[in-house]
Amino acid sequence: MSQSSAVSFEFFPPADAVAAAQLAAALAQLAPLNPEFVSVTHGADGSSRGRTYDCVQQMRRSAGWRVVPHLTCLGSTRAEVQALAERYWSAGCRRLVALRGDAAVADAAKGAGDYRHASELITDLVAMHDFELLVAAYPEGHPDTGTVEADVANLKRKVDAGARGAITQFFFDTDAFLRYRDRCLGAGIAVPIVPGILPIRRFAQVERFAARCGTSIPDWLRRRFAAGGGARGDGSNDGSDDGSGAIAVEIALEQVLRLKSHGVRDFHFYTLNHADLTRAVCVASGLCAGEADQRLWRFG
Ligand SMILES: Cc1cc2nc3c(=O)[nH]c(=O)nc-3n(C[C@H](O)[C@H](O)[C@H](O)COP(=O)(O)OP(=O)(O)OC[C@H]3O[C@@H](n4cnc5c(N)ncnc54)[C@H](O)[C@@H]3O)c2cc1C
Repeated sequence: MSQSSAVSFEFFPPADAVAAAQLAAALAQLAPLNPEFVSVTHGADGSSRGRTYDCVQQMRRSAGWRVVPHLTCLGSTRAEVQALAERYWSAGCRRLVALRGDAAVADAAKGAGDYRHASELITDLVAMHDFELLVAAYPEGHPDTGTVEADVANLKRKVDAGARGAITQFFFDTDAFLRYRDRCLGAGIAVPIVPGILPIRRFAQVERFAARCGTSIPDWLRRRFAAGGGARGDGSNDGSDDGSGAIAVEIALEQVLRLKSHGVRDFHFYTLNHADLTRAVCVASGLCAGEADQRLWRFG
């Protein structure tokens, strides 16, 4: 990645026309921030696998952005994965996020498929073409193993197989990320490890995501969000004027600024196909030039 800060934004393929309009609106609002790339998830909701390629192509055509497809392998045959990778290569996609995926969302009818680990996918993709492969990293450990040591060892395995960078699972314990980064360096992992930042749109939803992916919810976060959870009192926010959006921005902004003060340059944002919170954090932190909704950006 470049010498100055770079941001990337993650989206998921829309399931219907309403969701497509939401995504289009988010893309239009985030475009002026000049992301280094945007990425599109693959099968993360258990049903969107077939939509990723189309969504990637549409985004490349309409916005001219560098669009990076995610590619998961669990539940797929080697031939299926290689055929999709070949399509991406032919379409000009050189960077991919290479992932295992989850058994719960893999197609049960097809069984586990030919792959057990993301490192096997990386080995295959590297043998096919000179892809620039990014992988997942877990500063608090992956739920299958639950330990940071196992994750550092696994990231090393993926880098040794050919990964050129990593994006982390979202986290709120910033110290955990900094310790993880140090451990990776100590293990000889020299590729960039980009923190994944999730501005909290609905606290209850984030709690569910976090429980599934091994991210801790610190007490301070729970308290702060509950105290400022807005008129609905459920910690949700939709950009309405009840102050909860501003709290979400404040929390993510503090995280980004702290990471920046520790030398982190590049940031990946989990947008959940909404622009407002991500945009406010990027602008308020100085990662991107621009203006943000003043209801969401009262700092800086
Ligand atoms: C940035 C990011 C993007 C994501 N995008 C998507 C997406 O688009 N679609 C989706 O479905 N999911 C996505 N996920 C979720 C991801 O698929 C899950 O977290 C999945 O459970 C693990 O994928 P992985 O690539 O990290 O797997 P792996 O790297 O294979 O690791 C999974 C587990 O297996 C263990 N392991 C790996 N290799 C070995 C080995 N040789 N021996 C023993 N243990 C081993 C690891 O320690 C870990 O516990 C994403 C996650 C992140 C962080």
